[in-house]
Amino acid sequence: MIEIKELYKSFGDKPVLSGINVTIGDGDIYGLVGISGAGKSTLLRCINGLETFEQGTLRVNGTDISRLRGAELRKFRSGIGMIFQQFSLLERKTVYENIMFPMKCYNYKKAEADARVHELLRLVELSDKIHSRPNQLSGGQKQRVAIARALAMNPKILLCDEATSALDPNITNSILALLKKINQELGITIVIVTHQMEVVKEVCTDMALLSKGELKVSGSVQDIFLGRSEVLDELLGLPGT
Ligand code: ATP
Ligand code: MG
Repeated sequence: MIEIKELYKSFGDKPVLSGINVTIGDGDIYGLVGISGAGKSTLLRCINGLETFEQGTLRVNGTDISRLRGAELRKFRSGIGMIFQQFSLLERKTVYENIMFPMKCYNYKKAEADARVHELLRLVELSDKIHSRPNQLSGGQKQRVAIARALAMNPKILLCDEATSALDPNITNSILALLKKINQELGITIVIVTHQMEVVKEVCTDMALLSKGELKVSGSVQDIFLGRSEVLDELLGLPGT
């Protein structure tokens, strides 16, 4: 469970997150939406300990992450996978080496890591691309490799920052189906940051809307879209969602 209480964060004198309260349950697929600059990526980076914050508490499975330092923080981070809009693959390395990379950093035994790469490639249905390099792959295939790499350390949580924003609608749907499978079969909690409302409608169980660093609406996707979609449309300025 991810529990965020009264979190405040600023960059210099510019407030970016102002009193955020969110609870993300185990097994949720949680959507964080909001226009550009709302603070979505910053909040995601707070969750995996990449950003510090001035006030409030952020607990992941009971651990207050602002207290973690050094090896403890490193271990905590290895339990959270993350994927991005730009995929962030190592361009000079093969698919195999990209997925192997985090396990190498954490000194996994070679045979164990090798078996894990093969298992992950089966999961993301890319076994035939094992020796390819990123520039030989489509956008959707690159994101599948990034997902496999993010899962290498067996995380309990996967954070996705605009993971489908660079993909066309068909490919987006196949990536969303993969995320759903990962959630259901591996029991991984997924947090999806997006400005695409259709992504939230398609896969998320719960959601929150961020606007100028404040949480405006949160709850189950079903409740929000059944009862309050007009509020969302107005806040987001996205007619017809
Ligand atoms: P987008 O949809 O464009 O990705 P976002 O909701 O993810 O936007 P953030 O990237 O979290 O927004 O940024 C929130 C605010 O914080 C913005 O005003 C941004 O300029 C500012 N900001 C983000 N990172 C930094 C930084 N490292 N230093 C200073 N300001 C920053
Ligand atoms: Mg962002």
